[in-house]
Amino acid sequence: MLSKLKSLFQDRCPDCDKKLHVTSDSLRCIKSCPNQHYTEETYFHLNIRIVYRN
Ligand SMILES: [Zn+2]
Repeated sequence: MLSKLKSLFQDRCPDCDKKLHVTSDSLRCIKSCPNQHYTEETYFHLNIRIVYRN
């Protein structure tokens, strides 16, 4: 169950399986693949999550 929940919150690149690099401030959190395959931006105040995949 815990692993299932965890999978909802991506922390590895779906393409190369590298750990995503995370930067965050009070407005947003950005997770990105070091090889630029995947970027995920979360805006807390808007409750929006944007995912880019290359
Ligand atoms: Zn990648």
